[in-house]
Amino acid sequence: MNTWDMHCDVLSKLLLSPELRFDDDPRLDVTARRLKAGGVRLQAFAIYIPEAWRGKPFEAVLASVDAFLQRISSRADMLFIRTKQDLETLLQPQETRIGAMLTLEGADGLEGNLAYLRIVHALGVRTLGLTWNEANWAADGVREPRGGGFTAAGRRLLAECDRLGLPLDVSHLSVKGFWELLERSTQPPIASHSNAKAICGHPRNLSNDQLRALIAANGRVGLTFVPYFLRGDGGEATIDDVLRHLDHICGLGGAKHVGFGSDFDGIETWVRGLEHPAGYAMLAEALEKRYSAELTEGFLWRNWLSYYQGRLP
Ligand SMILES: [Zn+2]
Repeated sequence: MNTWDMHCDVLSKLLLSPELRFDDDPRLDVTARRLKAGGVRLQAFAIYIPEAWRGKPFEAVLASVDAFLQRISSRADMLFIRTKQDLETLLQPQETRIGAMLTLEGADGLEGNLAYLRIVHALGVRTLGLTWNEANWAADGVREPRGGGFTAAGRRLLAECDRLGLPLDVSHLSVKGFWELLERSTQPPIASHSNAKAICGHPRNLSNDQLRALIAANGRVGLTFVPYFLRGDGGEATIDDVLRHLDHICGLGGAKHVGFGSDFDGIETWVRGLEHPAGYAMLAEALEKRYSAELTEGFLWRNWLSYYQGRLP
């Protein structure tokens, strides 16, 4: 069973530690070996600017792209996914490579400069998350106490992303920013790594109104394996908790709009059985027991595939 994972942070670890080996380093959650073991056929790699690089954001973005090109997408077992045609290649029956998509988590790295946006788009970035938890020049993140939406510069950024056809990611965005984006953007947005607030009341999760709006806009949501976004009682999170969020979103009419975005390498506690990408094999088994083959394939693969087949150049 093919699996598509829409968010991981291994790239920021590779940026900080040149000695880490993407092949099979035990200090990483996401490695080539584990992607293969879990049946992951497409992994999105987020550019996230680590603390040590905050003084030179765009340089950090470029260094991350370089790390991605040098250490991930240039491997013989990986295929850089930038276009519909790349997805077609990945789907060929004899093809065994793993697709690697590049995304940017937070507009911080673009330093308010739309030329930088166009440059990262040309380099192959295929989804833009507007913020991390705090505010930046474009918009407020979900933990920014004032709870604002977009700045004037942020609105220009949205318009330029729409013009480029660069998909937008609302994970981490403030509630006000979420609604403003839905109103202003001409594209269906995604939430690459967020869960349902009705099941776990964490601020990073999406309310029923937000989820319904994403579904109505033909957007997508990637369920994430952050234990404290899965259950609020501090108990150990399991695959059953993931399924509770999935059931809930299906109940809102989102069976064709939900997939996964693990947040591997962005977390320090893990879901039991889902500690790294190889765990997708167990998740797939649990899904097959509970849902039809068609639904299971949709959650793991086809719901993200259909979105990006419609959005990539
Ligand atoms: Zn994140």
